[in-house]
Amino acid sequence: MTSHLADLLLNLHDRVPAVSLANVVEILALVDGVKPCVRLLLDSRDEGFVRSTLEARGLYCAASPKRLRVHASTALGDGYLEPAPEGDPDARVELMVAREQIAAERAASTQSGLVSPSLGLLLGYPHCCVAAQERQTGVPDWVRDLLVATPRAHIYPFGANRFAYLFSEHALGFDYYPCTLNCSRTVDIALSTRKVLVDHGLAAFADRAEAGMRAPILVLRGVLVRPARWWRTADAGTACQLAGADMRGWKVGRGAEDDPVWSSSTVERLPDGTIRFHRPDIGVLEVAEGDVDNRFLVFG
Ligand SMILES: [Zn+2]
Repeated sequence: MTSHLADLLLNLHDRVPAVSLANVVEILALVDGVKPCVRLLLDSRDEGFVRSTLEARGLYCAASPKRLRVHASTALGDGYLEPAPEGDPDARVELMVAREQIAAERAASTQSGLVSPSLGLLLGYPHCCVAAQERQTGVPDWVRDLLVATPRAHIYPFGANRFAYLFSEHALGFDYYPCTLNCSRTVDIALSTRKVLVDHGLAAFADRAEAGMRAPILVLRGVLVRPARWWRTADAGTACQLAGADMRGWKVGRGAEDDPVWSSSTVERLPDGTIRFHRPDIGVLEVAEGDVDNRFLVFG
């Protein structure tokens, strides 16, 4: 049976969409002691309602003194934040939620527009991932950064599959970018989060999230694809079927699914790393798997 708190938070998500399903998972983890603090980004009109709902459950809230706005967003819909100028109508309130007032206030006072190392640690993000984010310079591109940081492997732990968030809000863990797809601390957080969900009667949610994180992802020509079906070939390569695949544009932007290469294709990966497309109308198109733009990621 779903816990009373889980019901209350799911209702809050229905009424205030800015409180995402990922936020619901984070607040449950907060209450169960898995996470020290949760950060919510809200429209100022929703702040009072969200605050009173959470405070009635014994949680403490503190708003950061500065308002934030999105200064850059990716084709995937991720936003990067900066302090908003006075009077900006689109400015968001950053509300910190914790089990103790002092923790919420400390987190609210460390806000600097982006997640600073000290705030990252207050939010329960692993040291290694906070340090990796701090090293980033230039235009942020977390998909590429994550791929570059992750050595090629036959299989990656599903618990650190941050890409799964791009396909569904049902995912385990917290909202930060792992240092690599192998980050063991991120895997631990995913497993702890899974237990929290099960303990609150949300086993079906946890199962759905885990299934999504275990689904393989093809990164090719700037598009992230979750193939409908994949298999090992007789010559130890990998093949996947693109027809019916879920896909998200990376760099190439929205509408990539209209690229004729991606519709109704069958893709085969050969042992030498070559990826081959089979299409009746264009024959065979080969792409060498030579850089971060071309990866087939299997999670287990
Ligand atoms: Zn890490």
